[in-house]
Amino acid sequence: METDKTVKLEFAVQMTCSSCVQAVRGALEGTPGVQAVQIDLAGEQVLVESSLTSREVQDVIERTGRRAVLKGVGGREQDLGVAVAMLSGGGVVQGVVRFLQLSEGRCLVDGTIDGLKPGPHGLHVHELGDLTRGCLSCGDHFNPHGKVHGAPEDSERHVGDLGNVLAGADGRASFRLEDTQLKVWDVIGRSLVVDSGEDDLGRGGHPLSSVTGNSGDRLACGIIARSSGLFQNPKQMCACDGVTIWEERDRPVAGKGRKTTANL
Ligand code: ZN
Repeated sequence: METDKTVKLEFAVQMTCSSCVQAVRGALEGTPGVQAVQIDLAGEQVLVESSLTSREVQDVIERTGRRAVLKGVGGREQDLGVAVAMLSGGGVVQGVVRFLQLSEGRCLVDGTIDGLKPGPHGLHVHELGDLTRGCLSCGDHFNPHGKVHGAPEDSERHVGDLGNVLAGADGRASFRLEDTQLKVWDVIGRSLVVDSGEDDLGRGGHPLSSVTGNSGDRLACGIIARSSGLFQNPKQMCACDGVTIWEERDRPVAGKGRKTTANL
């Protein structure tokens, strides 16, 4: 059985000199959870093998004073599928969540959601990729086997049941989950929804516990779309003329100015 949760994260990082490379390498190699670092100065590319979330690795790089943009995620072997959902709703909650199929039975879900109330929030894949009435038209939790709502580790659960993500005091939830039931190819074209409250994982005793986990209102949602894996992002990434990717970086993950239809 595979238990290694390491994945490869590809970042574009503004670097102009070999001392920049040393600074970035030093910061990454001194961080627990980082297994390997490859840096290409000419290509301004940093490849990190890590068990940390993409946001955590990005923060380590950016603490050296350089901007970093996540370009791709990949498994250790071939990628079986990669997808991304850009979450937004009527309010301040927005986020980016990536799905990476590591093997037939392992789907990694890596994301950052901003603007949440501190505490746990239910996260679910819903049946429909329909946002015509906002998150209300996403349908029910994705449940192809007709099961009862549950916890991610339960066998009796909706396939879309990803449990809770935890927002810190700053309102940000940065997470990496691994799921055994979700398959990237089954959820592309569906939607991902984050809720206002905690998912009771079917154990709350409320009439909605066995249906939704009684996790409150749908705060933000996004359609799950196919995305690029490692080295498949066609965007130019040179700091000298590669405006596109740095513009992408300057759009905040949450709040005004963030386009949910951004081409990732
Ligand atoms: Zn459910």
